[in-house]
Amino acid sequence: MNYKHITVAGCGVLGSQIAFQIAFKGFHVAVYDINEEAVERAKERLLKLKPRYQKHFKSTEEEVNQAYNRLSFFSDLSEAVAEADLVIEAVPEVVQVKSDFYKKLGQVAPEKTIFATNSSTLLPSQFAEDTGRPEKFLALHFANQIWVSNSAEVMKHPGTDSEVFDDMLEFAKAIGMVALPLHKEQPGYILNSLLVPLLEAAQLLLVNEISDVESIDKTWQIATGSPKGPFQILDVIGITTAYNIANAKAQAGNPEFEKVAQLLKTEYIDKGKLGIATGEGFYSY
Ligand code: NAD
Repeated sequence: MNYKHITVAGCGVLGSQIAFQIAFKGFHVAVYDINEEAVERAKERLLKLKPRYQKHFKSTEEEVNQAYNRLSFFSDLSEAVAEADLVIEAVPEVVQVKSDFYKKLGQVAPEKTIFATNSSTLLPSQFAEDTGRPEKFLALHFANQIWVSNSAEVMKHPGTDSEVFDDMLEFAKAIGMVALPLHKEQPGYILNSLLVPLLEAAQLLLVNEISDVESIDKTWQIATGSPKGPFQILDVIGITTAYNIANAKAQAGNPEFEKVAQLLKTEYIDKGKLGIATGEGFYSY
C-alpha cells in the first residue's frame, strides 16, 4: 500500500469525519465538495471536529491544529484529484448522484487512482462500470462518530482486483481503523446483516405483545453479555430511522411491520420521543 495523497469527495456528516480522521493520522487530504458554499460548510464541520478529537484522544491543541492544516479544499473535481492515490466518496445516498459523480471522476482522475465508496445501502457493483475502472473500485464503509466507532468494512465487488482489496485493508489500519474484510458483496455489510434482524425480531416481540421492552432487553443482555439490548440500541440509532425501515418493510409486503411502524409513529415520533437525541425514546435519559 502506497497511498500518500487522499481525496475525500462529499464533506457532509461522514465525509468530514473521514477527512479529519485521515488527516489526524498524518496524511494530506484534499477535501472536495460541490461548490464554494458547500466547501465553507465543510470547513465549519471540520473545525467542530477539532475539540472532539482533542477530548477523545487527549491530544493537544497543536496536534488537532496540525491535522486541520493537512486539509486542503476544492470545489473543482479535477484539481481535487490531480494527485490522488485514493478517492473516498461520501456524496449523498442517491443512485443518480453517485452514478453521475463516478462518470465524471473516472474521466478526470489519474489512471493510478483507486476509488472507494462509503455508501451504506448501495452496492459497489451498481457503479463499477460508471467508474471506468471496476478493478480499482470497492467499498470502504465507516461508521458515524468514526473516532469512537472505528470500524472500516472493506468490501469487494466481483470485479475488484485482489491487490486493491488487500491494500485497502492495510490503509484502513494505517488510519486507525479496525479493518473488516468482506470478500463478496453483501447488502448491509457485516454489521447491519447482524443488527437489523435482531432489532426487527425485538420489535415484533413487542408489537405482538409477547413481552415488554425491558424484559426483551434484559434477556439479550444476560444471555449474551452484551452491554445494550435491542431497544437501547434503537434509542441510539433514533426512532425516526427505525420507523423509516419498518415503513419500507411494510410497503414491501410485510404486513406485520405495519404494526411496528404505527407503534413507532403514534407512541414515539408523534410524542417527540426520538431516542437519546431528544432525551427520551424507549427509555428516558
Ligand atoms: P450528507 O448529506 O451529510 O453529505 C453529503 C455531502 O456531499 C454534502 O457535503 C454535499 O454538499 C455533498 N455533495 C452533494 N452532491 C455532491 C456531488 N455531486 N459531488 C460531490 N459532493 C456532493 O451525507 P452523509 O450522511 O455524510 O452520507 C454520505 C455517504 O456516507 C452516503 O453514501 C451514506 O450512505 C454514507 N454513510 C453515512 C453514514 C451516516 O451515519 N450519516 C454512515 C455511514 C455511511
